[in-house]
Amino acid sequence: MHELPFVIKLLGEAEETARRENLARISRLRLRIGELSGIEPECVKLYFETASEGTAAEGALLDFCVEPAKLRCEACGTEYDFLPGHTVGSGRDPFSCPACGGSGTLIKGTGTEASLESLEGE
Ligand SMILES: [Zn+2]
Repeated sequence: MHELPFVIKLLGEAEETARRENLARISRLRLRIGELSGIEPECVKLYFETASEGTAAEGALLDFCVEPAKLRCEACGTEYDFLPGHTVGSGRDPFSCPACGGSGTLIKGTGTEASLESLEGE
């Protein structure tokens, strides 16, 4: 249930950016959502529809860019994306290193942020 505070913060940032760039309306917002942020794009959309009513961002489209968390291999030091969804059915352990098959550990702080990357308007 982190989505509502996130949407409110997002709208604040979007309106500030729109004012700074002299945009009367915001037509599209591009969001970067960390895989481990706990933010669900579908919930963001729902809250956004309600929260953006009467603001410059009302009716704007949302684009989501999911940012994967990163792992570092303990054996060889390779850094790679943690993509659990991509390894389903492939038999590959999402934690194992693509270079040497060693075991990776999560790099702290990666994939946990959710933020406004850019916006379009006129
Ligand atoms: Zn490795």
